Amino acid sequence: MARRQEDAGSQAFLAAGHAGTRARKGEEDCVSLPWLYRAWSEVARLLYPPRCEVCGRDWETAFCDDCLARVEWITAPYCARCNVPFPENQTERHLCSECRRSRSPLLAVRSVGLHARTLREAVLRLKFRNAQLLAPVLARLLFERVLQEADEPDSLPFGEVKALVPAVLHPRRRRWRGFDQAAVITYHLAELWEMPMIQAVTRVKFTRPQIELEPEQRRRNLAGAFKPVPGVSLDEKTVVVVDDVWTTGATLEACARACRLAGADRVYGLTVTRAVPSWHPAAVERLQIAGG
Ligand SMILES: [Zn+2]
Ligand SMILES: [Zn+2]
Repeated sequence: MARRQEDAGSQAFLAAGHAGTRARKGEEDCVSLPWLYRAWSEVARLLYPPRCEVCGRDWETAFCDDCLARVEWITAPYCARCNVPFPENQTERHLCSECRRSRSPLLAVRSVGLHARTLREAVLRLKFRNAQLLAPVLARLLFERVLQEADEPDSLPFGEVKALVPAVLHPRRRRWRGFDQAAVITYHLAELWEMPMIQAVTRVKFTRPQIELEPEQRRRNLAGAFKPVPGVSLDEKTVVVVDDVWTTGATLEACARACRLAGADRVYGLTVTRAVPSWHPAAVERLQIAGG
């Protein structure tokens, strides 16, 4: 319970639009009015008894064990760069056809699971229904994915990472939504990983939701969407850009380009979910649901 209350405080801070500053600043602001913070947490607990934010059942954390059991985890075999899973009979290590052609500054990305079932629902509820108690849960799943990387085939050098950079929203969209889901997830991940969170890039191009666009159109639409924040240097560091979803990779790639302009040496990516490959049963299931 204490953890949920802490989370509510840090989320209120992030929702107030300070998400771009370093995590440590957030801690200072949260403790400046401790009595008010404690009182509000108590009222919030009485008004909103703990429940799973995805299925609604009474549960001590925002993501219950049943929902956790329905996550489509990404496990080997997968593409060493973009983490798209391959059918289990393709055990030979290789890059997917998309990555074989790629000249992206984003070296590789890892995701917790497929954008399907309960994990998709959690990401969407955080983003569109303001279910901010899910942010620390998703950050913990990301951190577990980071820890697991050392034991994976083609493991990424996450031990060399020096900073986390959120793939922030455009300021206009953040105002509409009231918070920035990538920044909130990164904030919690930075705490768990004991890593500085640096807003090194800012989104300067307001792009419409890109769901209907083809991958190449998305890439063109997002070219130049991010710029380095003036005066912030990534100082030849190895950094990880963090976002909630990987669809075609266009957002993280644009963000990685800006990180390189800000001086980063190597840029990797982490997302909670990634698009479901067409061969996967979860994609077939979605089509059946969509088709009635
Ligand atoms: Zn649940
Ligand atoms: Zn790939």
